Amino acid sequence: MRIESLARFPLAQLPTPIEELKSLSRELGGPELLIKRDDQTGLALGGNKTRKLEFLVGQALEQGADTLVTAGAAQSNHCRQTAAAAARAGLRCELLLNGTKPELPNGNLLLDELLGAQIHWVERSEREAKLSAVSDHLCKEGRKPYVIPVGGSNGVGATGYVLAMMELAEQLDRINRHVDHVVFASSSGGTQAGIVVGAKVTDFNGKLHGVSIDKDDGNGVTYEDELAGIANETAKYIDFDAQFAARDFNVVYDYLGGGYGVVRELERAAIRLLASREGIVLDPVYTGRAMGALIDLIRKKAFRSDETILFWHTGGAPALFSYAKDLI
Ligand SMILES: *Cc1c(COP(=O)(O)O)cnc(C)c1O
Repeated sequence: MRIESLARFPLAQLPTPIEELKSLSRELGGPELLIKRDDQTGLALGGNKTRKLEFLVGQALEQGADTLVTAGAAQSNHCRQTAAAAARAGLRCELLLNGTKPELPNGNLLLDELLGAQIHWVERSEREAKLSAVSDHLCKEGRKPYVIPVGGSNGVGATGYVLAMMELAEQLDRINRHVDHVVFASSSGGTQAGIVVGAKVTDFNGKLHGVSIDKDDGNGVTYEDELAGIANETAKYIDFDAQFAARDFNVVYDYLGGGYGVVRELERAAIRLLASREGIVLDPVYTGRAMGALIDLIRKKAFRSDETILFWHTGGAPALFSYAKDLI
């Protein structure tokens, strides 16, 4: 295995802290709860994309790129962190965002602009085509674009979460704690793929639960197949001799609610509970839903009360401000 020798551009404050959620655990009368604070990775308000971007930007610089190009929702945390990473690395940044330009930018979008990103508004259905069109156009202008897939979810990006699992194993070892379950939000797959590869690298024996934010357990190519694809790419990139298949991934599909970015009572209640009991700010799209799922599962007695659960906070709070009307 080689991770130390891979191209990497430092962006994150690591290790991120692990904290106990004592009040929440007491309130739920349930298992012991820990939280891993990847909302505190430190890059322009933090989040899980920072870990992926260390390897993506590392590769971009290695290839002599001068511009990062990526795509996402108008309130994409990935796009905001990519814009910040570009600024730090001295690169330009072009973002393709879904929809139309709002009158007043807020949340992540405001930050994208402050961070100096060039924004293109596109129809979601045309996103992939526009991504190559923008990249081709930049090449014709003599620039060297480096295209990052949505969410930074390929083998290069997911490598950040292999390292994150190595970090977690070391931390748990140091505080002499055992974790039975790890719960986190899962959407474009790089986080879950990296965590699963990292679990194999570290012989982690807790159960890993990705709470699906927007993928259903549909037919044809399933999300698990996609995850296995990213995991195999990751293993290859880090030269780790292992094969992954759909059955290696545990995805929870019961909390899709109103769809991507739609805030309902599940998310609202979870955000309020964590804020009022623990002083921790979740986000409306990902961690609000994943924590809502965890709270519901605890209430349904899906875990034994002598177990320890770690919730991986993946960030996203800057989007809260653009969801104000859904939250109060
Ligand atoms: C992108 C994101 C996720 C999901 O991570 P994936 O690697 O895309 O599955 C979870 N939480 C937050 C806050 C995110 O921005």
